[in-house]
Amino acid sequence: MDLVELGRSGTRVSSIGIGTWQAGDDTWGPDVNDRDCIDAIVRATELGMTLVDTAENYGRGHSEEVLGKAIRKVGRENVFVATKVSDHHMRPEDVAKACEASLRRLGIKSIDLYQVHWPDPYDQVPLRDTMKAMEWLERRGKVGHIGVSNFAIRDLEEARAALSRTDIVSDQVQYSLLHRNIEAEVAPYCAREKITILAYSPLARGALTGKYRPTQRPGDQVRTRDVFFRAANLRRIRPLIAAMERIGRTHDRTAAQVALAWLRSHPGVVPIPGAKRPAQAEGNAGGAGWRLTREERGRLDRISSGLRLDTF
Ligand code: NAP
Repeated sequence: MDLVELGRSGTRVSSIGIGTWQAGDDTWGPDVNDRDCIDAIVRATELGMTLVDTAENYGRGHSEEVLGKAIRKVGRENVFVATKVSDHHMRPEDVAKACEASLRRLGIKSIDLYQVHWPDPYDQVPLRDTMKAMEWLERRGKVGHIGVSNFAIRDLEEARAALSRTDIVSDQVQYSLLHRNIEAEVAPYCAREKITILAYSPLARGALTGKYRPTQRPGDQVRTRDVFFRAANLRRIRPLIAAMERIGRTHDRTAAQVALAWLRSHPGVVPIPGAKRPAQAEGNAGGAGWRLTREERGRLDRISSGLRLDTF
């Protein structure tokens, strides 16, 4: 697996990571269990996908505990741990407490990348106070790098202005062939400022794998009301899936791997697909090690831009 620099930090991470929201509980379906999730993380790291993303929020800490068990299996030095503080823990004293609780659940001494999960529109905690608390954690060695998630440019600028001796290395945002909103503002800003984009839901929560149909939709809590899985939308994305499968065949790859390769074709973008079991992690590792041609990328850009999905 090739490595890419995280922001301007000099630290290099795998060009595809693994997301572990799935490991939190059964909101992603009854087929989720701890053993498979641990094995998925272990397999991912064996294949070089060492950037592992979790959050205190996923299953109220359970995902971090599962990751902790995987870390004990593979060795701390083989995992780049990215976790997140929730938007209801933005007061400086809560940030510090949340960090300690995450470290305990993960069974580690320092978090490699600590991210603010969402900007906080409700509690009115000044963002600069939260960021100062993040920097204090970094100074004490509790945190290696500081990142954010779901931040627009205004949030990024405010957060960066509050940091005196370090900078934000990453913004984790939704990005896939079915969700390209960040291309308007956030992506150009991050490219210019050398802030890595960690692309979440890179497979559009499974819709881009091609395995779902209008008559065969996931019934779990996360996806039942998800717009990507509306019957009409699953019908509308068929031409894109067909193009992805066609391109995949010429490279001996799956549609999911094409979806990840498309994201990787954007410099500074690192997809973090979620995996419920080792086979999925293996499949996702195959999104690296090859490239789309310029023509293939252009074709996918065109078809995906032309899609008109129901969003209400
Ligand atoms: P995703 O990665 O687009 O989709 C994951 C789902 O796709 C899996 O649960 C699995 O579900 C299916 N899948 C994965 N690999 C597959 C493969 N190789 N072949 C076939 N199916 C496959 O969506 P996501 O989990 O929402 O996003 C990834 C990660 O991003 C999360 O785990 C989390 O760490 C992070 N995230 C962050 C935020 C945030 O606010 N920062 C929000 C969302 C997610 P089925 O097998 O059931 O179809």
